[in-house]
Amino acid sequence: MRAKRSKKYRKLMHQYELTFGFREAYQVLVDSNFLRATDQFKMELIPALERTVQGKVKPLLTKCSLAAIMAAQPINPKTEKPYRPLFLPPPTELPLRHCSHNADSTPIDEIECLLSLLSPSSDVKKNKEHYILATAEPILRKTNPNEPKRKWKTEDDRKEEEAMRRSKTLRTSARSIPGVPIIYVKRSVMVLEPMSNPSEMIREGHERGKFRAGLDVEPPLGKRKRDGEEDDEESDEEPKKKRGPKVKGPNPLSVKKAKKRPDAPAPKKKAATVEAEGDDAAPKPKRKRRHNKGVHWEVEDAAESQPAEVDA
Ligand SMILES: [Zn+2]
Repeated sequence: MRAKRSKKYRKLMHQYELTFGFREAYQVLVDSNFLRATDQFKMELIPALERTVQGKVKPLLTKCSLAAIMAAQPINPKTEKPYRPLFLPPPTELPLRHCSHNADSTPIDEIECLLSLLSPSSDVKKNKEHYILATAEPILRKTNPNEPKRKWKTEDDRKEEEAMRRSKTLRTSARSIPGVPIIYVKRSVMVLEPMSNPSEMIREGHERGKFRAGLDVEPPLGKRKRDGEEDDEESDEEPKKKRGPKVKGPNPLSVKKAKKRPDAPAPKKKAATVEAEGDDAAPKPKRKRRHNKGVHWEVEDAAESQPAEVDA
């Protein structure tokens, strides 16, 4: 990782520490897409995470994420159980986070599970346990660029689209909870997202010393609505900061410029410059004064007097 980026990430994690009370070792909830991506791009789970957050980490896998991983695996006919995927690290490296969403602890949808851990209460969105979310773009099938485009979608196309949509939903929802750092793997690069708008609002409030206990700042409705529709490129960008108060007065672009004298010929200026230069080289104060007085002369006779001025 480049020095510039690691410095930026260290600063960002420092802000999460100051504003939201994060402490090392950071608890990182890794999801199934993240595990597949880190395996695909040959990243070592813990070292890659620690380089990204610039500190010690404690990765965790929820029971529901594990269930989602196993549900996608082929079944071993001998044991009639799914094969353990190679991309799944051993529990010593990636311990289970025991989540319980219902009476009999049946696993629920992976995204719902993660969001419920990131913000247990839906009334006040707050990342109480100081989790970091580590997720990734879903791994898509390799497509042959020479293959002609099909006009209809196959079942696999639909599955991939759905996976992409769900991946975006997870991140968009996680961004709406203040104080959730998001690690994201996209095209073999692991990044730490900039603070989301809701996080940034809390941080700014904190810095101004107007930090209220509730942390009940909801993102503006319009912004959230747009988030859902954002395409990937946009959503990866840094959230824009609010501008300061508007400067009063007319728009300078709409104000008419001062009128130029219509009969003042353009070349005159040039002549004047030449004259000034000439004066610098060989000052003739008397003559210059005369010129300055003669406004009419300047306007009316500038063109005729030009050669003379150049000579001077
Ligand atoms: Zn769960």
